[in-house]
Amino acid sequence: MKRIGVLTSGGDAPGMNAAIRAVVLTANAAELEVVGFEYGYNGILERQYLTLTPYHVNHLIQHGGTVLKSARCQAMFSDDGVKQVAAVLHELAIDALVLIGGDGTFRGAVQLSQHYQGALMGVPGTIDNDVDGTDFTIGFHTAVDTALDAIDKIRDTADAFERIFLVEVMGRHTGYLAVAAGIAAGAEQIICPELASELDTAKILQHIRNAQQHRGRCSYLIVLAETMYPGGAAALALELERQGVECRASVLGHIQRGGRPVGADRILATKLGAYAVEQLLQGAHLMMAGEVNAQATLYPLIKTGDKQKKVDQYLLNWQQQVAQY
Ligand code: ATP
Repeated sequence: MKRIGVLTSGGDAPGMNAAIRAVVLTANAAELEVVGFEYGYNGILERQYLTLTPYHVNHLIQHGGTVLKSARCQAMFSDDGVKQVAAVLHELAIDALVLIGGDGTFRGAVQLSQHYQGALMGVPGTIDNDVDGTDFTIGFHTAVDTALDAIDKIRDTADAFERIFLVEVMGRHTGYLAVAAGIAAGAEQIICPELASELDTAKILQHIRNAQQHRGRCSYLIVLAETMYPGGAAALALELERQGVECRASVLGHIQRGGRPVGADRILATKLGAYAVEQLLQGAHLMMAGEVNAQATLYPLIKTGDKQKKVDQYLLNWQQQVAQY
């Protein structure tokens, strides 16, 4: 193996830069050349790439976003597009490709393996934490802290006015971020897909009224996972108001994707980026470098989107039964 490629794809996540750095430094130590493709799979198709040396990743570890940029790539959804990507990789003599992204990116890699002769290795980078085969994805810890910082501030103003707030957090179709941020913020309610596939406004209102009976007027926070209600938190707030409960909505949005990665994400990214390259050198293929119980481990890329990983049910139950008011 002489030349490997690396790209970041799908939603960007804090710590992706730290993972790129670890890939480059580990490859450099093994005398491998590293080609960084820009804008995810698009950079391969469009031949937008640069050779990455340790110089390029100097002092990169602390920066959010990704220096390789990220993007979705429509062409990967067609067999022709995938064949073109494979052809460019062959033409550039890329012996292996490291893909830093989420389960969508890894589905793309599985498609690519049908036409590409080199090795493929995933590194889980997404704030959603919705990737099987790793306890945490790179970016999740930072996103939890970012959401928490915002929710704590919302709590201050909610307390001052004794208001009810609906705070919408990201997470796609999973509630890892909502549960973690909601628990850490001491939210009165957490609404996420793992709790109920359909949102029940009557239950939400009952919960609020019970809390008001117990405590009188007071601030009350609901952390809502995105995709739980058509139109999101703003639409749900209107509906709750229509049913007699005044409520403010706050959508945290893309601030959750940005910012300096926290220490835990930098360390995880360093470990997984390094392990990815080491395992490629050992002959691994179509695997993801993950971490389970603090140990770096390989997991088949094809299984990373199976949605077997569970949100912390223990904490969620506790929140619902004990800490609801
Ligand atoms: P995140 O969940 O953080 O957004 P992700 O990697 O899951 O990250 P996606 O938008 O789902 O993000 O996927 C990123 C890219 O991976 C897509 O734009 C596409 O190029 C490729 N991809 C996703 N799913 C497939 C698929 N089924 N077949 C081929 N390529 C795919």
